[in-house]
Amino acid sequence: MQQLLAVTSELMILNDEIAQTYSGYQNDRKLFCRTGCGECCLHPGIEASVLEMLPLALYLHEQGTAESTLEALQQHEQDSCFFYQPSSADRKSGHCGIYAYRPAVCRMFGAAGYRGRQGEVLLSICKVIRADEPAAVVAAELSLTIEIPPMMMNHKAQIAQLDYELSKQNMPIKDAAAAALEKVLTKAWYAEMAGFSEPL
Ligand code: SF4
Repeated sequence: MQQLLAVTSELMILNDEIAQTYSGYQNDRKLFCRTGCGECCLHPGIEASVLEMLPLALYLHEQGTAESTLEALQQHEQDSCFFYQPSSADRKSGHCGIYAYRPAVCRMFGAAGYRGRQGEVLLSICKVIRADEPAAVVAAELSLTIEIPPMMMNHKAQIAQLDYELSKQNMPIKDAAAAALEKVLTKAWYAEMAGFSEPL
């Protein structure tokens, strides 16, 4: 358990840096998210690693809700993220129910760099921002010749360095969260069996 706590502590620091890097880039480039928008969280293809969900799993364990959350995750059948809390009838507005513990991938929503097939730097920009801020999008894409944006692969690699095994596979967020919870519950059970009674 101590190893999980140590790697999670490092990851939380890195997560904060990642969030600041991407929001700083978006602000500088005026690629603003629409207030209250939750469309990213409706996307069925968002994936994270088990490592990315460890901070949440440890937090839920501390709160005594790890088992109940795991059960709810296993029953969740919607395509949108389990942790998304919509606030409009069309579900396009809403917020993240685990904002402080959201995975790194969610800290890169909005605008992020990636490499194309020829190794060229490209920008992935959310379709809502594209619709709302067309001039800023054009300027950001033109700036790629002189400025490299925050690159998703680089930050994923930084995270993987913390624990390769727990980072090597990406899966839907609910599956990654369930796997992280199972890992924490298993470790806690063994710690208890071994007679360690100190708080996690
Ligand atoms: S974890 Fe939070 S920010 Fe990430 S997709 Fe789910 S609701 Fe959205």
